[in-house]
Amino acid sequence: MKANRRTDTKPELALRHALHRLGYRYRKDYRLDLDSGRRVRPDIVFTARKLAVFVDGCFWHACPEHGSKPKANEWYWGPKLVRNVERDRVNDAALMLDGWTVVRLWEHVPIDEAVTTVVTALAAAGAVTRGQPHANNGQPHANNGQPPGNPASGDDPLR
Ligand SMILES: [Zn+2]
Repeated sequence: MKANRRTDTKPELALRHALHRLGYRYRKDYRLDLDSGRRVRPDIVFTARKLAVFVDGCFWHACPEHGSKPKANEWYWGPKLVRNVERDRVNDAALMLDGWTVVRLWEHVPIDEAVTTVVTALAAAGAVTRGQPHANNGQPHANNGQPPGNPASGDDPLR
């Protein structure tokens, strides 16, 4: 088995599998090159709906419940963890600037709750994009009544 601790943490795997079972298709470990020049690699990416999901480790991303400051080697870990958290926030901002929806889940979040959060975010993101394609189309079938001032039906679609 390949040990890839960065991408295949257990909570992240569980979430991916659950989403897959529900019929959702996504990309994992997919690098996004943002307009700002930043490169971000969310844990789960839904490209069509522009939804980026991160499953953040409680230690590495300084979860308020479990991310208590490490006692050993504080001089080393303290600044490192602060940088991680700062990078998270900068990445979030860059993603949102490019029109992405960002979902961050702590690894301690129960799987059901994590799935619900992602599914809800997907529905919201999908609703936005679905509304747009029809916005500036003509409606060929909508106007059955004659438009005022054009009784001769000069643009008969049957011809
Ligand atoms: Zn936690």
